[in-house]
Amino acid sequence: MYRLGLVGYPLEHSLSPMIHGSALRIANINGDYRLYPVPPSPQGMAELGQLISKMRHGKLKGLNITIPYKQAIMEYLDVLTPAAQAIGAVNTLFMSDGKLVGDNSDAPGFMADLENIYSKKTVGREVSRVLVLGAGGAARAVVYALGMAGWEVIIAARRLKQASDLVTHILHKIPDLKNTQSVPTNASELNGRFPIRAIDLNELPVFIQQTDPIHLVVNATSVGMFPDIYASPWPEHLELPASAMVYDLVYNPEETLFLHRARQQGHLAWSGWGMLVEQALISFEKWTGIAVPRQLVVQSLSIEGKPD
Ligand code: NAP
Repeated sequence: MYRLGLVGYPLEHSLSPMIHGSALRIANINGDYRLYPVPPSPQGMAELGQLISKMRHGKLKGLNITIPYKQAIMEYLDVLTPAAQAIGAVNTLFMSDGKLVGDNSDAPGFMADLENIYSKKTVGREVSRVLVLGAGGAARAVVYALGMAGWEVIIAARRLKQASDLVTHILHKIPDLKNTQSVPTNASELNGRFPIRAIDLNELPVFIQQTDPIHLVVNATSVGMFPDIYASPWPEHLELPASAMVYDLVYNPEETLFLHRARQQGHLAWSGWGMLVEQALISFEKWTGIAVPRQLVVQSLSIEGKPD
């Protein structure tokens, strides 16, 4: 029996069992993917310890980790992959050579979905300048992925300090940038000198007016996510950068207010569904060695119309 699962709290709305259940069926593996809701309490930490022990003893073949344990889990692990180290968060555990490894599949999941979008004939590939809204956990993964892929990244967050800290952290983790002369530790020094910088969300209207073209806008905040579906991270009366593509990491609802308005203005706009499936399948492959085609999972979930 191939036992997989997700640890976090709360977990009621997780779609991971559906995606992994489908992947298990397609891969013809006799297994299951369970939810392990572990409340953040002393008793919860003991439960977390037991789940880790099951991983080490092969009773669990793989775990996903979500809020609030993406950072806290690190102290239990033997090895972190470079991506998990750079992002500073773990969402996938697997055993390798007797060692418990922490990885992060959000970054490659996001890039895989972006590649998928660009592979569509209607979308021109522009690896150039991207505006990322938010500086939380998902933003860290997205900024790392885009930075590694050579994009110029502008992070806009309501707490400039959070965004500046992310800039500083990421710059030290991307090898090409790290090797560029001396890396300043002061974020304001970094702005304009390196292709990743931070701005205050309030500066967005002025920034949009004055900056060079933006090719992609990514919402990595939780704004617009169920149940607050009538909220958008983008100021209502501010036009999106001309011809920018829009990507919203939020996948519930499938069309957020941000996406809806972007589409109304004629922008190509994609939800986080594709990333959700991609990051799940990257974890699944780590656990099973089997690369399940995204298309088969998408078909089996009947999520046509989503960004597949
Ligand atoms: P997080 O760590 O809590 O970060 C959320 C970010 O949004 C923070 O920077 C936060 O700023 C900002 N924010 C929240 N409310 C805001 C508001 N009203 N105005 C401006 N900024 C606001 O959450 P996360 O883990 O990064 O997740 C963010 C979203 O990405 C969630 O909706 C999650 O479901 C989605 N996600 C999707 C995938 C996928 O596969 N598609 C993967 C991961 C995450 P403060 O720190 O100031 O509150």
